[in-house]
Amino acid sequence: MSSRTFWVGGNWKMNGSVAAIKELTNTFNAGNVSSDVEVVIGAPFVYVHLLSETLRKDWAVAGENCYVKASGAYTGEISPEMLKDVGAKWVIVGHSERRNILNESDEFTAEKCVKALAAGLKVSLCVGELLEEREAGITQQVVERQLGAVVKALKEEDWANIVIAYEPVWAIGTGKVATPEQAQETHAAIREYLKTAVSPKVAAETRIVYGGSVNAKNCKEAAQKPDVDGFLVGGASLKPEFLDIVNAAQ
Ligand code: PEP
Repeated sequence: MSSRTFWVGGNWKMNGSVAAIKELTNTFNAGNVSSDVEVVIGAPFVYVHLLSETLRKDWAVAGENCYVKASGAYTGEISPEMLKDVGAKWVIVGHSERRNILNESDEFTAEKCVKALAAGLKVSLCVGELLEEREAGITQQVVERQLGAVVKALKEEDWANIVIAYEPVWAIGTGKVATPEQAQETHAAIREYLKTAVSPKVAAETRIVYGGSVNAKNCKEAAQKPDVDGFLVGGASLKPEFLDIVNAAQ
């Protein structure tokens, strides 16, 4: 068992309504979960305030994205400072849906990390390869390219406030979960990369969590892998079974 605190995040994506969030929050608030797990729920911007007011206080709220400026003429964007103002403690940065649907670059993603940390938010940084990249045998190169931009932009001490979410794109929302061995292999390689690219301390202390079709049934086995420090959960975080995933390592 590592000394890294197990971390489980939910990512509601563009789902929810005031009524649905109230119902789900009631379920989560009544759930019996281990106090050894750090839990963070990512909600659409418009619901961050409501969630931060109503969610149990031992869990934190995240925005699902942010912009790179504090304020100004950036119509439609939301700053890290605004997220913090309405109660978010975290922000998800670099989700594959932003990288691949909205064409956000590695450098823009890295800049978001810098600005979010400067505003006092913690960051769940997502990386992961497309199916064709896995099939071409370049998973590690892709993940190192994505991480490399962030490594270049951050100082060593910044990594204390980052959780890396390894999310193979082919496993997100598809029901095709990576095997625990596939997750472990990539997580171990990411840790090895951090050792040389940042420092042995950062490599040893940074949480690396897995995301991609995690559910109550498949989480237990993956949670036993030495380099799997938790999960980032999409679809199943909108259901009561999320509570079982929070307890996966118990
Ligand atoms: C995600 O959105 O980050 C995710 C992992 O989704 P899902 O669990 O639905 O595959």
